[in-house]
Amino acid sequence: MADKRDYYEVLGVNKGATDDEIKKAYRKLAKQYHPDLNKDNAEAADKFKEAAEAYEVLSDSDKRSRYDQFGHAGVDSNSGFGGGYGGGFDGFDMGDLGDIFGSFFGGGFGGRSRRNGPVRGRDIQQALELTFEEAAFGCKKNIKLTRMENCEECSGSGAKKGTSPVTCGVCNGTGQVRSVQNTPFGQFASQSPCNACGGKGTKITDPCPKCNGNGQVRKSSTIEVNIPAGIDHGQTVSVRGKGEAGLRGGPSGDLLITIYIKKSEVFEREGNNVYVDVPITFVQAALGCEIEIPTIDGKVTQRFPEGTQHGTKFRLKGKGIPSIRGGARGDQYVRVIVEIPKNLNGKQKEILEEFARESNDKNYNQRKKFTDKIKDYFK
Ligand SMILES: [Zn+2]
Ligand SMILES: [Zn+2]
Repeated sequence: MADKRDYYEVLGVNKGATDDEIKKAYRKLAKQYHPDLNKDNAEAADKFKEAAEAYEVLSDSDKRSRYDQFGHAGVDSNSGFGGGYGGGFDGFDMGDLGDIFGSFFGGGFGGRSRRNGPVRGRDIQQALELTFEEAAFGCKKNIKLTRMENCEECSGSGAKKGTSPVTCGVCNGTGQVRSVQNTPFGQFASQSPCNACGGKGTKITDPCPKCNGNGQVRKSSTIEVNIPAGIDHGQTVSVRGKGEAGLRGGPSGDLLITIYIKKSEVFEREGNNVYVDVPITFVQAALGCEIEIPTIDGKVTQRFPEGTQHGTKFRLKGKGIPSIRGGARGDQYVRVIVEIPKNLNGKQKEILEEFARESNDKNYNQRKKFTDKIKDYFK
C-alpha cells in the first residue's frame, strides 16, 4: 500500500474540495476510464478502479476524516479494502453514480435498478418480402419505418433551446430516494425511484416545445438497406444503429429485417441449390432432344439423350444461388418429368399399337428385370 497515490491527487481535487467537487471530479474520471469505452485497456481499468476507490473514501465524511488524519492506513484496515481494491463493492454507496456502474454491469446493481443512465434504444423488427431473383442476387430496398428519434430542436435533452435540465432537488440528482422503515424485525433501509423527477435525477423547467420535454420525437423515415445476395427465407438482416434512438446518450437499437421470399413460378430453392422440373414428351425422352431451360442467369440449352428416364436429374454446376458468405455458387438441378400422352385419337392409337408390336425386351430394360423377378416369385 506504500506506493498508493494520494486520493485527492487521484481525483485531481484539493484537500478542501467540497462533496460536489469530489463527485464531479469522480464522474469525469469514471466516464473517461469507463471499461465500456476502454475495451482491453488495462491502464484505463486500473485508473477506473483507482478513481472508484478514492471516491469511495472521499465521498464518505467518516472515511474522509480518517483518511485526512491517518492517510491510507486510516481507511485500509476498516474499510475492507484489505490488500487492494479487489472489487469489494459491498457497502459502496453508488448514489448517482449508479448510471456509470449500471451501464458497466448491464443494469441493476445490487438489486437497485438504473434509472438515470444511458439506455440503448429498442430494436425494430420489420418483415420484407423479396422475389426469388432479388434474394438470389441481392438488392437495395427502401424500408419505411416509424421510430423514435432524438429531437433535433433540443438535441435530445428535452429542455428548451438555450436552457438545460436542472438537478432534481428532492433526490439531489440521484434519481433515488432512501427511506428507513421501522419494523418489528429492525430497521430496513430501502431505495426507490424519486417521484419528483421520475427517477431521472434531473428536471426540465422549460420543456422543448417540439418534443414536449421527451427529448425524442416519433418520426417516419425511409432507410436504404442492402440485402446481400444469397439471403434465404426466414433469415434476418440486421442494420446496426437504425432502430429506436437511445435514451440519455445511449446508443440506438438495431433494425432487424426478416426476409420472406415469394414462391417462384419456375424455380424451387433448397439452400443454395435451385430445382427446375422440365416436362418432356415420351417421344422426346425416347428419341432424345434439346430443350431451352430457364436458369437464374437466363436460358440455357439442355440436351436430353436418347432413352432419358422419368425422374432423371441433370446438374448445371454453379448455376445455383450465390453463397451469402461468399465463395462458390450452388448448382441447378433439372428434373425430368416424362409426360405420357392422353386423349389419343384413332390414328395415334394405331401407330402406338404398331409400335408396340415392333417392341421387345431390349426396349424395356426395367420391365424385363421386373418380369424375370416375379416369374421366380410365382413359381
Ligand atoms: Zn426537443
Ligand atoms: Zn429526483
